[in-house]
Amino acid sequence: MSSDEIVIVGGGLAGAKAAEGAREAGWEGPIRLVGSEPYLPYERPPLSKGLLLGDDGPQAALTAKDGWSRTFDVRLELGAPVTAIDLAAHTVRIDSADLPYARLVLATGAEPIRPDLPGADLPGVFTLRSLDDALALRDRLVPGARVAVVGASWIGTEVAAVARQRGAEVVLLGRGSVPLEKVLGPEVGGFYGSVHASHGVEVRLGPDVVGIERSGEGDDARAAGVRLSDGSVVEADVVVLGLGVRPSLSLAKAAGLAVEDGVLADATLRTSDRDAWVAGDIASHAHPSAPGGRRVRVEHWGNALNQGLAAGANAAGADRPYELLPYFFSDQYDVGMEYSGWPFGFDETLLRGSLEDGEFVAFQLRDGVVVGGANVNVWDVNEHVQTLIRAARPVRREILADPSVDPADWPRLALA
Ligand SMILES: Cc1cc2nc3c(=O)[nH]c(=O)nc-3n(C[C@H](O)[C@H](O)[C@H](O)COP(=O)(O)OP(=O)(O)OC[C@H]3O[C@@H](n4cnc5c(N)ncnc54)[C@H](O)[C@@H]3O)c2cc1C
Repeated sequence: MSSDEIVIVGGGLAGAKAAEGAREAGWEGPIRLVGSEPYLPYERPPLSKGLLLGDDGPQAALTAKDGWSRTFDVRLELGAPVTAIDLAAHTVRIDSADLPYARLVLATGAEPIRPDLPGADLPGVFTLRSLDDALALRDRLVPGARVAVVGASWIGTEVAAVARQRGAEVVLLGRGSVPLEKVLGPEVGGFYGSVHASHGVEVRLGPDVVGIERSGEGDDARAAGVRLSDGSVVEADVVVLGLGVRPSLSLAKAAGLAVEDGVLADATLRTSDRDAWVAGDIASHAHPSAPGGRRVRVEHWGNALNQGLAAGANAAGADRPYELLPYFFSDQYDVGMEYSGWPFGFDETLLRGSLEDGEFVAFQLRDGVVVGGANVNVWDVNEHVQTLIRAARPVRREILADPSVDPADWPRLALA
């Protein structure tokens, strides 16, 4: 079977942007976007923010607004999971039909981890990935509801903030000593812990969750709380599991693509098959400037957006390396932050501004070199943080810590 079509598997942000990227790069052949969810491609960040809060409806989350498929001339197959890919025959299977493709973009995203805990499948236990998840959870975040959020990373902390803002009683559970410790370190994680505590969230970190408590039997069975490894029980009507995600790799693996913790891709996001590209949460990318030539897999919005555009353009023949730095944002209460950096760890946090004032830049250093940076309620500085990261040279700490130095001057003054 021969085809002149680009087929994109996965109707999330990366998939939708791949279609745009292919058109912008001049692809004149047909493009088909196949997604298992029944909705037009939408963005997930609002699901733990405005949409969960009730400020926005589903329409606000759409990546592909009305008219999108006409504008980019994309044929949409929604509610249509691809069950197999035959790389040699250049076909993807939907239902029992084998659709031919000329070039393939894979963007199947990720699924939330549901731990193998007693009671984890009870009614009242939620994970948050899809629009349906968010709408179901929103209905349960009502004044007086007792909500236990398990996992104190991004999804957990954002859900805790929204649940509290909707009037629920919230306990935030997780590992470590402060929320977000792994990504932001103890100082900035401690700041987030204080913010939550000041809004009335009980932050109880340390003991592991060992099970979900049940009340009722049969059809009446439902979650009634969370049992911790220290023997205590946190009573709750709603339990939200924010324990991270697993990339959806089964299709790629079964097709025979090279896969490790993600689908392996070269600098241009091309997979081990010369007619298949990859983008978003599933891509394990040979980033041209990652320290030590390490592979990078990023589970963030900016990465899905920009890699989607790049993978689509490259499938259309652009053949350009993808070089943007990982970027992330989060909104909790009145605290907004942006983060750029490599996900490989740091050994020092350097602050500009004060945690007490709630407005600061936290530089993450490794061996004296900036490898990441979070700007919290400080704006228009992230591009300068990125310049420092890209320079990959030791910095003068006193310059970065000095609030009187203009961030535009950081590269000139701080790079030793
Ligand atoms: C609640 C929430 C809040 C978030 N907030 C932020 C934030 O504030 N900032 C930030 O930077 N990032 C945030 N993220 C992360 C960000 O949304 C993801 O990194 C991004 O959605 C990844 O896009 P993707 O297109 O790779 O995957 P996805 O968005 O997961 O889309 C993949 C799509 O492919 C479909 N699919 C899977 N398998 C198949 C198949 N076999 N056939 C057809 N279709 C298939 C899936 O159903 C899904 O629709 C958040 C994520 C969540 C869940």
